[in-house]
Formats: sequence, C-alpha cells, structure tokens
Amino acid sequence: MITLNLPTFDDVISASERIEGHAHRTPVMRSRTVDQAFGAELFFKCENLQRMGAFKFRGAFNALSKFDARQRRAGVVAFSSGNHAQAIALSASLLGMPATIVMPHDAPAIKVAATQGYGGTVVLYDRYKEDREQIGRELADKHGLTLIPPYDHPDVIAGQGTAAKELFEEEGPLDALFVSLGGGGLLAGSALSTRALAPACKLYGVEPEAGNDGQQSFRSGSIVHIETPKTIADGAQTQHLGSYTFPIIRRDVDDVLTVTDAQLVACMAFFAERMKLVVEPTGCLGFAAAREMKSQLRGQRIGVLLSGGNVDLQRFCALLA
Ligand SMILES: *Cc1c(COP(=O)(O)O)cnc(C)c1O
Repeated sequence: MITLNLPTFDDVISASERIEGHAHRTPVMRSRTVDQAFGAELFFKCENLQRMGAFKFRGAFNALSKFDARQRRAGVVAFSSGNHAQAIALSASLLGMPATIVMPHDAPAIKVAATQGYGGTVVLYDRYKEDREQIGRELADKHGLTLIPPYDHPDVIAGQGTAAKELFEEEGPLDALFVSLGGGGLLAGSALSTRALAPACKLYGVEPEAGNDGQQSFRSGSIVHIETPKTIADGAQTQHLGSYTFPIIRRDVDDVLTVTDAQLVACMAFFAERMKLVVEPTGCLGFAAAREMKSQLRGQRIGVLLSGGNVDLQRFCALLA
C-alpha cells in the first residue's frame, strides 16, 4: 500500500502567504432574515465574489506558484467542468505561463468563454463517453505539461483551505460549518483549517442527492465510484472522491449530507432576492443542508461557504422560472 503525504494546516498557512495580494480576501456576509428564521447566527463566506467567481482560484494559484522554471516554460494542463478551468487559466496568465484546459462539451457557455478569455486553450470532450483524466494525462505526456487536477492534489487542497481559515480568523470558532462537496478539495482543505482553528466545530460536506458518492464513501470507509450524476449542481458532478481528499474527509469531517436540485433552486432565489447575491447551484449546497437542519442549529454560530457564483444569466432565470 502506498502511503500518501497528506497536506496539513501548515501547508494551508503557506498557501495563504502565496495567494496574498493575488486572491481576494472575500467578505463574510450576514442576514437578519436568516438569523431570525434560524434563531441562530449565520456567517456566509462569499467565494462567489472571489476572483473568477469561485474559491478554485485559491488552489490553482497556490499550485501554479510552486512550479519550477521548466514547468513554467512548458505550462499547465487541467481537466475541469468549469471553475477549475477558469482558475487555472487566470492563474497561469497572471504567472506568465501557457494553459491547456480539457472541458466537457456541455459545460456552461459562460465558463468556456471565460476560460478562453483568460487566455486558456480549450479542448472539448464528451463527459458521458470519454475519460477526461486520460485525455489530460496524454496531453501532459506529449507536451511536457504539468497536470493540475481539480481537487486531488496537496497544493490544491491547501489553497482551498485558506477560505475557511479566513472565516475562522475573522469570526472566531463556529459551532458548525457547511461546505459544498464535489471531489472534496474544498472540504478537505476546510477540514485542515477547521481542526486547527476550531477543533469542536461540526464540519459537514454537502452533495447533490443524485450524486451522493461522497456520502457513500464517507459512511462505508472506502471510495465509491458512480456514473456522472445528472444534477443542476455542475460543480459537483464528480464521480468519486480523491486519494488525498478522502482520507482527510474521513478523518476530520463529521458527516456528509445531501440536498435536492429543488432545494438548491430555492436557495438561489433566496440569495438573489434577500442578499443580492448571485450564487451558482453548486454554491448553494451548504445553505440548502443547513436549512434542512434548522431545528438542530438553534442558538449556534454557523458558517456557510458559498463556493461560487458562475451561472449563465439565462440559465439562472430558467432555473428560477
Ligand atoms: C468545484 C466546485 C465545488 C466542489 O469542490 P471540490 O473541491 O471538487 O469538492 C463546489 N462549488 C463550486 C462553485 C465549485 O466550482
């Protein structure tokens, strides 16, 4: 059995130093309406207001900052359903290196266009038929590019952990933290920060009900693989947790919960109407689960990570109609 060197909170601290001045320190927003409805205090960490519109800039910039001169010259390759693609393309352009992005043919148009806008070269594939990891690896081998996966990489996990680190630094220890879960980079990184800064805080990962591989994996103790789930939460259409993310999640997370697409839509509407925030479906996972647990959360201080805000305006309207 291979023993992996899992990232630690020290790596999150180093990541926060690397991204400082490049990533936004995103605001933490409050809502009296929410606090009243919950009989609790909620703190929304707004990664929908991060550069390129999602927390993924943190992990990507951290990983690319660690490239040596040879890696920088050849450039980076990434495969992604969207936000990781934009994060890699933007980070690469800021650091002056070429980026090739392998994206699904049905990725939201706004995400494809934004990736190209940041200077990335886009290669499309069929997400129901082809293996994106294999395509990415082949490009890496052929052109000497360095592959940065969307979640299963120590530097990506450490970078993603900086969002929860900022939240705890600003608000002190919380009683519970709700985090969107796809492949687990954000949740694993948040776990490192949570266990270091607020050891007693309950930490929940939240997935779409149609793709509950993380819940199955967490509860069974080994990584469960599923078919690409059909859900509006396109940032969480992952088929399995990673070899780095799973052991951290298994060790440090309290539970993995699921919500329906209809619950995500209700949250999108709430954020737009009441908080004037555009949050993409995947970004609503944490709050949708917190709402379901409302009666158990009375009197507590609760963190919710709004992971991203990239959704076509047309799709946004269609979902709410
Ligand atoms: C990628 C993504 C997620 C899931 O993150 P993982 O690190 O894969 O678990 C959640 N929300 C948004 C907006 C994302 O882009």
